[in-house]
Amino acid sequence: MSLAKTYPIRCPKCDHTQNVKLYDSINVAQEPTLKTELLENRLNRVQCESCDTSFRVDKPVLYHDADRNILIHWMPDTACSREEILDEFDDAMDELRSALPENTEPPRVRLVFTRVELIELMFIIEAGMEERVVEHIKYTIHTQNPARLPPSKKRLLLNVQDSTADELLFAVQDIETSELGEILRYPREVYRGVQKMYRKNSDEFVELFPGPYINARAVLIEDGGSAE
Ligand SMILES: [Zn+2]
Repeated sequence: MSLAKTYPIRCPKCDHTQNVKLYDSINVAQEPTLKTELLENRLNRVQCESCDTSFRVDKPVLYHDADRNILIHWMPDTACSREEILDEFDDAMDELRSALPENTEPPRVRLVFTRVELIELMFIIEAGMEERVVEHIKYTIHTQNPARLPPSKKRLLLNVQDSTADELLFAVQDIETSELGEILRYPREVYRGVQKMYRKNSDEFVELFPGPYINARAVLIEDGGSAE
């Protein structure tokens, strides 16, 4: 079930406060229109009744796809640090596991910090791709192009929809400006090879990307930081 609550929200432009209904969780199997709202950047968007400004409220949202038995927590890191979010997340997961009826397959659980990451992951899962394999490929691309694609400045986003049977398309996003730049093409054949490795020896991949936040940039930045 999708859940929404009423929150007092202040307009960032004119400071007018109004009560608005915002979603805490969306069940996209039951309510696919909410997925459309998310894709079109209309979910949890508010129109100020005083000055007419439209703005999105970034708050935690739980994305639930029951058909694929996955939960994705979108936890914007604007209010608190990623470390705090991860701590809270572990507690919430323990609660979830103990609340599940016996003999139920526990859902896969993922964490994302931005809407862009949520949408990318949603498409990866719907395409039946493995997110750890995708991040492993991003890891390789960053590592092989340190000058052109430094993980501290550039983000790779897999564009599932425009990828073809032969090629995966990655968009390069500038972290600071959020602008999308060049498109990288990557042979799908190599993806299949990495996927085979993953299926044979997933431990290595899980060790590199333990989750719940599976992200090549985060791993590279952390490694870079500890090497200094
Ligand atoms: Zn306003």
